[in-house]
Amino acid sequence: MSISANVKRVEEMVREAALKARRDPAEITLVAVSKTAGIQEIQEAFACGLRDFAENRVQDGLEKVASCPPGITWHFIGHLQTNKVKFVLPNFALIHSLDRFKLAEKINQVAEREGKEVQALVQVNIAAEDRKHGLPPKEAEEFIRDLRTLPFLKVTGLMAMAPFTADPEEARPYFRGMKALYDSIRIPGVHLQYLSMGMSGDFYVAVEEGANIVRIGSLIFQSGIND
Ligand SMILES: *Cc1c(COP(=O)(O)O)cnc(C)c1O
Repeated sequence: MSISANVKRVEEMVREAALKARRDPAEITLVAVSKTAGIQEIQEAFACGLRDFAENRVQDGLEKVASCPPGITWHFIGHLQTNKVKFVLPNFALIHSLDRFKLAEKINQVAEREGKEVQALVQVNIAAEDRKHGLPPKEAEEFIRDLRTLPFLKVTGLMAMAPFTADPEEARPYFRGMKALYDSIRIPGVHLQYLSMGMSGDFYVAVEEGANIVRIGSLIFQSGIND
């Protein structure tokens, strides 16, 4: 299968899941996770109309940002070390992986130096998995409250990964829990607008449960989708 066929198919599935949940498909952003892709593949996906791409490693990401068409909105979705923040901020529009106060302070500091506001999503470890980063759901609201002391950092949503399972239905309760958490957070001065959840194996369910950003890698860039 070609990348363009993959993109069409993923877009169709997002649309179908949205309509099934009586949602407007236009409110859902498809982010192409290009971490396994080369420049040419990214350009192919760009030619299909995709404009949002994501990387999870700083060094690889910077090389791709430098060689890819302008007009791409880049997302950073990997674990971020504080000493790399200064490279990420000028090149990525949205950080999905804010998971600790030290990182928030660093982002605020670099953003202030650059004289701009930076947007980030708070990563939630929805299933309390040891191997995953992110805050326990119970701590997310207080964390976001505390971040209001950092004027150059704007938290605009939440990000989560469901546990990997063969059956995406098993991810549904986690996605539902994330949507409930997202809806429950009401903090003066904070406007949450993005719920980033759903990957190649489970985005259909994530959209049904309320995701408005899905992060799709292998289904776009790796051949061999089963039809
Ligand atoms: C790799 C990755 C994805 C995409 O995963 P696929 O299963 O290839 O779609 C999404 N989110 C994060 C944080 C990732 O690291």
